[in-house]
Amino acid sequence: MEQREDKLKEVISHAKEYGFVFPSSEIYDGLAATYDYGQLGSELKNNIKTYWWKAMVQMHENIVGIDASIFMHPTTWKASGHVDAFNDPLIDNKDSKKRYRADVLLEEHIEKIRQKIEKEVEKGLKRFGDAFDADQFRATNPNVLRNAEKITYIEDKMRVTLENNDLEGLKNLIEELEIVCPISGSKNWTDVRQFNLMFSTEMGSVAGDASTIYLRPETAQGIFVNFLNVQKSGRMKIPFGIAQIGKAFRNEIIARQFIFRMREFEQMEMQFFVRPGEEMKWYEYWKNTRIQWHKALGLGEQHYRFHDHIKLAHYANAAADIEFNFPMGFKELEGIHSRTDFDLKQHEQFSGKKLQYFDPELNQNYVPYVIETSVGLDRMFLAVLSASHKNEVLEDGSERVVLNLPPALAPYKVAVMPLTKKDGLPEKAREIIDGLKFDFLCTYDEKDSIGKRYRRQDAIGTPFSVTVDHQTLEDNTVTIRDRDTMQQERIAIADLHRLIDQKVNLRTLLTVNTMSEVNN
Ligand code: ATP
Repeated sequence: MEQREDKLKEVISHAKEYGFVFPSSEIYDGLAATYDYGQLGSELKNNIKTYWWKAMVQMHENIVGIDASIFMHPTTWKASGHVDAFNDPLIDNKDSKKRYRADVLLEEHIEKIRQKIEKEVEKGLKRFGDAFDADQFRATNPNVLRNAEKITYIEDKMRVTLENNDLEGLKNLIEELEIVCPISGSKNWTDVRQFNLMFSTEMGSVAGDASTIYLRPETAQGIFVNFLNVQKSGRMKIPFGIAQIGKAFRNEIIARQFIFRMREFEQMEMQFFVRPGEEMKWYEYWKNTRIQWHKALGLGEQHYRFHDHIKLAHYANAAADIEFNFPMGFKELEGIHSRTDFDLKQHEQFSGKKLQYFDPELNQNYVPYVIETSVGLDRMFLAVLSASHKNEVLEDGSERVVLNLPPALAPYKVAVMPLTKKDGLPEKAREIIDGLKFDFLCTYDEKDSIGKRYRRQDAIGTPFSVTVDHQTLEDNTVTIRDRDTMQQERIAIADLHRLIDQKVNLRTLLTVNTMSEVNN
């Protein structure tokens, strides 16, 4: 656990030191759970967006993208259920004045009991050695059984109270389990209150005209309200998708863990409209396609797993998360939801407009069913950054910090360095950059020893470093160093473009995606 926390701290400080992510308005001591992407961070973020947009929109004939506004008519959020039901139950400790999510307090309590079970199993293993049968031990050991029963009891009570919106029941459960505040250690709790996660503001400058509007808590509704506009103007035929990348806002009660949980964040969402009755086929299809998109990045397949939802949201008939092994453990990276016809039907009802599709093959009108894929851009960023960040001990015993970023996502593709600052080498280096800069983001560096400059590029994940030396002036060759293998090769300047392109072109990643979709 401690090791994991250290890893997260390392990633945070690396991100700041090299210009990837800064705390927002830091000169005023920052603002909780808001961050700014720096000069390299915004490049990495843009590259992730491009990878998603290309794979999801531009490589699919039947998916188009839109860019809807953040402000929407307030009735949108009535219809979607967010005004009434987008709540988290919160509770305060009167002594520490700290605020918690009641459901999270209970989940953490359950996790502690789970850890007790695991300790018991470990003890058993130590005692009985090779002869130990863990499954049998779990099924028969009285301590394990008692704790497992406790967990079932708490989970059942939690489910009932949450489903019935029974806030008093939640508080009673916290008291019954004698849960204490981790800060004050006391059981002095307030009542549980529902807390709506939407930010609201006023529109219009005249007080009387003002009406409450919300900052969208998800981008999906911008797609639903435009369903007919896009379908008609784009002559889209079912099945088809509408995609969007954009900001979303949630007033999260506890926002910790760096850019994993922010109050202002960015989502990449796609709603896929299908015939009623065909949604399960497409749900499986998108689960598969999306996990392949992640795995194609090469961060390690062991970092991903599916988590099927047990308790479904009111609008869904199936839902799964793609979880990623973040420094804090496996957590949700992307959600894939079968949303039925809930959203379109709600908007039909609240707007009085028909949101239906005429299916020429069936000769019939219907409200389409929807499969949604929704991934957090900032969580993607954290996944890529944390899995790429490595402290390596080299063969000669020295150490280096390297970001093994997928080359197509790396901010700079190539660094060009003159060996010395004189003899026309800088001019030659700049000439090489001029030839490459139309296709690749390049950086120039002439300060410090070559070794130091390589380390700097390793730390920001630049896949290639090119060095210009005196021989270059004679025969137009340079050395090119690979970030991952650290091997250097002497090649003709004329071959640079092709060699770099082979490795950093997004085409490589997209080809893996196309192949896996064919097999889907
Ligand atoms: P969680 O359970 O972690 O709060 P969620 O289930 O509420 O997430 P969704 O409503 O399914 O999340 O949103 C889709 C995606 O948006 C998530 O998979 C996640 O990547 C991203 N996301 C949601 N909330 C945040 C946040 N506060 N900060 C950053 N990304 C977020």
